[in-house]
Amino acid sequence: MMGAAHADLSDYGQNVRKIDMIKRRQEKLAGSALFYHDPIHLVRGEGVWLYDDEGKQYLDCYNNVASVGHCHPDVVNALCGQARQLNTHTRYLHDNVIDYAEKLSSRMPGNLEVCLFVCTGSEANELAMRIARSATGHNGCIVMETAYHGNSTLIDELSTIAHPIASERPEHVIAVEPPNTYRGPFRRGEHDNLGERYADLVGEAISELDRRGQGTAAFLCDTIFDSQGALEAPKDYFQRVYEKVRAAGGLCIADEVQAGLCRTGKWWGFEHYDVIPDIVTLGKPMGDGHPVGAVVTTRELAQKFTGSALYFNTFAGNPVSAAVGKTVLEVCEREKLVRNCEEVGAYLKRGLSKLAEGHPIIGEVRGHGLFLGVDLVHDRKTKQPAGDISSLVPDAMKARGVLMSMTGPYGNVLKIRPPLIFSKANADQLLRTLDQVLSELTGGAGRGSAPAAPAGQAQRIGKGVITERKLEELAARGCERVQVGPGVVITPLAIDKARTLDIVIERFINN
Ligand code: PMP
Repeated sequence: MMGAAHADLSDYGQNVRKIDMIKRRQEKLAGSALFYHDPIHLVRGEGVWLYDDEGKQYLDCYNNVASVGHCHPDVVNALCGQARQLNTHTRYLHDNVIDYAEKLSSRMPGNLEVCLFVCTGSEANELAMRIARSATGHNGCIVMETAYHGNSTLIDELSTIAHPIASERPEHVIAVEPPNTYRGPFRRGEHDNLGERYADLVGEAISELDRRGQGTAAFLCDTIFDSQGALEAPKDYFQRVYEKVRAAGGLCIADEVQAGLCRTGKWWGFEHYDVIPDIVTLGKPMGDGHPVGAVVTTRELAQKFTGSALYFNTFAGNPVSAAVGKTVLEVCEREKLVRNCEEVGAYLKRGLSKLAEGHPIIGEVRGHGLFLGVDLVHDRKTKQPAGDISSLVPDAMKARGVLMSMTGPYGNVLKIRPPLIFSKANADQLLRTLDQVLSELTGGAGRGSAPAAPAGQAQRIGKGVITERKLEELAARGCERVQVGPGVVITPLAIDKARTLDIVIERFINN
């Protein structure tokens, strides 16, 4: 999750319409952050491509909402066709919701055979927790540190990223260290039995929940560990954890809001670990942009829950949403997107590892399929997170027409999560651009080579990224004004720095 502060609207150059939109947003949309220092006004999408209001094309390497590609014609046709005919809630007979439930559950292993539809990932996790609590009679939940699972009251409590101080969390929440074998407490090359060691932390959490009189209702985990920096858990981690949780009478919930639907090179992220959860929660990619989510579970658990609780969702599973969800699954099958994610993901991962050979800032490349994390470090030995550099990468990539972001507890992991239809040619473009950007940000092109600006006179910068450090260098040379070209990215921290250094930043258009 990345948002930028937008303190000074004069930074947004000549685009009057954009300035007006930002002002109106700031006035009327509470707490809604925008990506990038210079936010993008997108007006069109097609496949892996996005287009802004000035016609600039961007390669989307970040968006797993538009899973099968922006505006996929089959999905748009299904949506429009059904919307023209009928849309209502699920208390009438309609083929779409039944067809969708049959198709979705047929893609699940074991006896995960019934669906409860929702509109968002938050709703899916909330419902999953209700099912777990009612089925187990327990109250407690084990999650990862820096987890994000959604925005309802209960799920916000379980989203430890929003509640970093353990002592301030409710009694029923215990967070464990995620299985980060690169920089976590137990590391590859330094410790053995990593799966066992990390799973033992869950065992300790179960004992603690018992001590607190909460019991374990559920272990809730995002199987690609997005907010922990896109991790690959040890192969036996989930098996060991699931065993412990079930022995304590708890249920295992796989949050597949990020990892689900082909993304990791398998239909569902948990399939990498040879486990079958008790409850699977789905959201984000299921509707290619349309709000479609689901909880998939066993008949027994669903019956226990619906026998004792009321669950009705006005919009979920309506004829339009179900038509969209079903079409997305059909597209995944027809376009063989599991295989595409596996093949292109492996190709991209190899390319990133190759890039690491020339860029010591890359500490580790990890992840599955088309959900990859690139852990940036100042020093490969100490693994000191390079969050200061990684925070500059998205803006610098954007300036070159590639959209991506960063994640992880230190914000130092580049997050690559393109639409599932991403091709090897797209991967090549991403790799080429990242190569340039990392060179530039780590002292390659541009750093320290600019001629000194005479005191009081303007320094013109036609391309690249203006960082805090760059401004400090310019200030040390007596520069008081910086004129930047339209493609130049100024980081939010650099904007603040300019104020403290008394440097005026101006945009010039014809460079
Ligand atoms: N689970 C995970 C792992 C997520 O990343 C998110 C959203 N970022 C959610 C749940 C919540 O989904 P939604 O925003 O659709 O409520």
